Amino acid sequence: SEEFIRRSEKLSLAGELAAGIAHEIRNPLTSLRGFVQLYMKEDMDGTKKLRNEIMISEIDRINEIVSELLVLAKPSNEAYELRDIVNELNKVARLFEGQANLYNVQIKQEFDNHLPFINCQRSINQVFINVLKNAIESMPDGGEVIMQAKQMKDEICIRIIDTGYGIPQSEINKIGNPFFTTKETGTGLGLMVSMKIIQNHKGTMRFESEVGKGTMVEVILPIVK
Ligand code: ADP
Ligand code: MG
Repeated sequence: SEEFIRRSEKLSLAGELAAGIAHEIRNPLTSLRGFVQLYMKEDMDGTKKLRNEIMISEIDRINEIVSELLVLAKPSNEAYELRDIVNELNKVARLFEGQANLYNVQIKQEFDNHLPFINCQRSINQVFINVLKNAIESMPDGGEVIMQAKQMKDEICIRIIDTGYGIPQSEINKIGNPFFTTKETGTGLGLMVSMKIIQNHKGTMRFESEVGKGTMVEVILPIVK
C-alpha cells in the first residue's frame, strides 16, 4: 500500500542520513586521533602517557560505535550476490585466529559438503564477525567454539556454539536491543546490527544459552531469496 511505501522511503532516508552523519563524524575523528598520537610521540618522559592513552581509547570507542551504526545504515542498498557461505565462515574464522589463540579458544569448523550458494549481501559477514567475537569474549579463560553449517530443505542453518559464561534467562530477551551490553567496554550494538542484517535477508536468528555452560547462536537463511 501507499502508506507502506512511504514508510520504507522514510526508513531508507533515515539510513542515508545515518550513513552521512557517520562519515562526517569519522573524518574529524581520524584527524583527532592523529594529533593525539603526535602528543604521544612528543611526550618523551611519558608523564602524559595515561592521559594520551585514554584519549586514544575514547576516540577508538566512538569510532567503533560509528562503524556499527554505519553497518546498520548501509545494507539496504548493498547488492545481493550468490555467495559460498562456507567460504565466508572460513574467512571470518581466520580473522579471529589471533584473538582465539590469545584467549586459548579453539575454533572448530563442521560444515556439510556441497552446500548451495546463498543470495546475500557482503555485509552478511558482519553477522558472523559479531557472533564469533561475542563467543570468544564469553570465554576469557579459554574454551571451544564450534561453527556449523548444514542444509535443511530450502534453508541453510548456521550455528556458532561456545562454551562460555552464558546468558541468564532474564537477559536473553534484551539481546539485540540497542545499547544492551553486559560488558565494561561493550557497545551493545553488534547483535542489533546482526539481527537487522538477517531480517533483511528474510532469515531468522535465535539464541539458546545456559549460564556457566555456553551459548548457541543459530542463523537460518533461505537458499532462494
Ligand atoms: P556487546 O558485545 O558490545 O556487548 P552485542 O550486541 O554483541 O554487544 O551483545 C549484547 C550482549 O549479549 C553482550 O553484552 C552479552 O551480555 C550478551 N551476549 C551475546 N553473545 C553472547 C555469548 N556468546 N555469550 C554470552 N553472552 C553473550
Ligand atoms: Mg558484541
